[in-house]
Amino acid sequence: MNANRIKRQLGNEKNINDQYTPFKKCGSKQMILFDSHSHLNDRIYDQDLNDVLKRASDAGVAKMMVVGITLKSCLKGTELAEKYAELYASVGIHPHDTKDCSEKVIQTLKGLSQSSKVCAWGEIGLDFNRMFSSRADQEKWFCRQLEVSGELGLPVIFHERDSKGRFLDILRSEFAPGRQGVVHCFSGNRKELLAYLSMGLHIGITGILTIQKRGEYLRQLVPHIPRDRILVETDAPFLTPAPEKNRTRRNEPAFVKSVLLKLAKLRNEEPEVLASAVYENTCKLYQIPDA
Ligand SMILES: [Zn+2]
Ligand SMILES: [Zn+2]
Repeated sequence: MNANRIKRQLGNEKNINDQYTPFKKCGSKQMILFDSHSHLNDRIYDQDLNDVLKRASDAGVAKMMVVGITLKSCLKGTELAEKYAELYASVGIHPHDTKDCSEKVIQTLKGLSQSSKVCAWGEIGLDFNRMFSSRADQEKWFCRQLEVSGELGLPVIFHERDSKGRFLDILRSEFAPGRQGVVHCFSGNRKELLAYLSMGLHIGITGILTIQKRGEYLRQLVPHIPRDRILVETDAPFLTPAPEKNRTRRNEPAFVKSVLLKLAKLRNEEPEVLASAVYENTCKLYQIPDA
């Protein structure tokens, strides 16, 4: 999503801080969380990023991945990651934005990836839902970015929506076995889930899990995902989970705790134990020390 589309979707959120009430602590033990996918590089956080990071820390979110979608957002994400110890960045061109991609852009992203805080390539993939870029552009730059990230040895953050099997076809031919990645915001079917797992990919779970109707099918699937393949994410500023969505439209990393709690309940696991395992999965995938 680019900034204009985000603005249109979210409207004016200037007073969001006024609505904020802190979390109730869950039990006595503090859990440790990694928001594996956020867009803190979005200008919607420009005014209050320090408050957002403080609330994340209070909720136990020790690390956050700031995901790139355009050249501009990648530059900003890398800058933020270099400024704040708890932030990490990924670089890549989102399928929606591939119409503006070029070899020059790819080379600039390659340069950015040399920062020690850039730990992944993405988000890349296919999105045939709204067709902001043509299918030809999406496929061309998806393949090219798979190639570049492979040369750099970086794990990949994947975005897939309504690609009708094309995403899997490309992965099967262009993504070498043994390479690492995460299908973020997973909302596919059982067959797709099994295909991703058999390719060794991780599965990113968002607040969709907490949404009554939209999360129904996902809730049936999550107990079947091996624990060592699960990541949790906000995809902030989108997809605000329940119960936070009742009081604010803008999502933020602190709310990843609600995703984890719901996941633990559905899997019948201790939240703190699951949180630690998921945190470790994320550090391992992004090759970040888990201290
Ligand atoms: Zn996405
Ligand atoms: Zn995203």
